Amino acid sequence: MNYPKHIRFVIERLRAHGFEAYLVGGALRDALLSREPGDFDVTTSALPTEMQAVFADQRVIETGLKHGTLTVLADGCPVEVTTYRIDGEYRDARHPESVRFTRSLGEDLARRDFTVNAMAYSEESGLVDLFGGKEDLERGIIRAVGDPERRFSEDALRILRAFRFSSKLGFVIEPKTLAAIETCKGGLLKISAERIASELDGLLVGQNAYGALSLMADSGVLALVMPEAAVEGALSALPREFAVRLAYLLRNVDKEALSARLHALKLSNTVIRQVTELVLLSQSESLPMHEPEVRRLMAKSGVLFEPFLAMLEANGLKVEPARQAAARIRARGDCLSVSHLALGGADLMVLGYKGKAVGATLGLLLNAVLDDPTLNEKEKLIQYLKQEN
Ligand code: ATP
Ligand code: MG
Repeated sequence: MNYPKHIRFVIERLRAHGFEAYLVGGALRDALLSREPGDFDVTTSALPTEMQAVFADQRVIETGLKHGTLTVLADGCPVEVTTYRIDGEYRDARHPESVRFTRSLGEDLARRDFTVNAMAYSEESGLVDLFGGKEDLERGIIRAVGDPERRFSEDALRILRAFRFSSKLGFVIEPKTLAAIETCKGGLLKISAERIASELDGLLVGQNAYGALSLMADSGVLALVMPEAAVEGALSALPREFAVRLAYLLRNVDKEALSARLHALKLSNTVIRQVTELVLLSQSESLPMHEPEVRRLMAKSGVLFEPFLAMLEANGLKVEPARQAAARIRARGDCLSVSHLALGGADLMVLGYKGKAVGATLGLLLNAVLDDPTLNEKEKLIQYLKQEN
């Protein structure tokens, strides 16, 4: 098993002080799949105060002391280390009322969501796999640890995590786990918008987003979190960007309902703006064919031009000619905005334009230049204005 030396340092240091310590969770899963792991988590029998003593010479951040999580900055690299724990009663289908620390790795692994996420590894002990996680990993299966209904009623967020992992890893959800999702899905209504949005983000950019979303729709889960979404196979053809894929799902939704949904999900202003513009573009614009139309659309859509073409392409339109036209337009550096006009607001004022007439005239000039970019020279634009008046 290959993992960075700062992880090894943390595990070995804990072991040298007589504690158990293992690599656990997503990084181990990804390493076994030969995927690039994200964040590395270490689990240990040491209590938080014991960890603080063990790493007294390192910088330690009290990330979630109450839940047993410390971040050790080993050589400046952050490693999350969590004490073995058992989650207490879940009263609101999300937060355990209490956590209890334990010295048993088995108890810690049993509280984890899915078998593929519930393995531990250390060089001394090798792989600890109490729930058949390795086999599920090899067969491509998401299976709840323990009784699935109990696990989803404890924490309904796990329902969305199941779909997210199915999307990210291209795994199927095991039948009993899926049946329990259907039974327990109502618990999702108690989950915060931020957590739902963050799971949707991971889900939409996954390799199996279409499969996972179709299953979410069939099991009635999608109706609880985003009833307006229209899931089509074309989704798979889109770039793996959250805003683009979300816009595609919401492409038929009217402006008010769209705004309500995006705000209810508490998405960032940037994502809300991108999704809204893309949906409005897809409802109002068609595929541009000739250079003037392409320039007009590039001017209107800005950085969303390519994502918009990708949406049209996903719908089966032949966008290649428009893409090539855009490449020519960029290569020539055709003017696409008022700020690139050869005649600016200050020039217009010298020519006697005042107040609102300045802006309106700039708009008029841009319009002309979008039709014919060779017009974008100071003298030609002045001529153009004389003719227009
Ligand atoms: P990712 O690659 O997306 O980070 P991950 O498996 O590391 O996936 P995290 O959310 O970082 O997911 O959680 C780390 C580990 O903690 C999981 O692998 C799982 O063992 C456990 N875990 C996280 N959230 C839950 C939960 N809601 N219920 C049970 N176990 C959980
Ligand atoms: Mg993780």
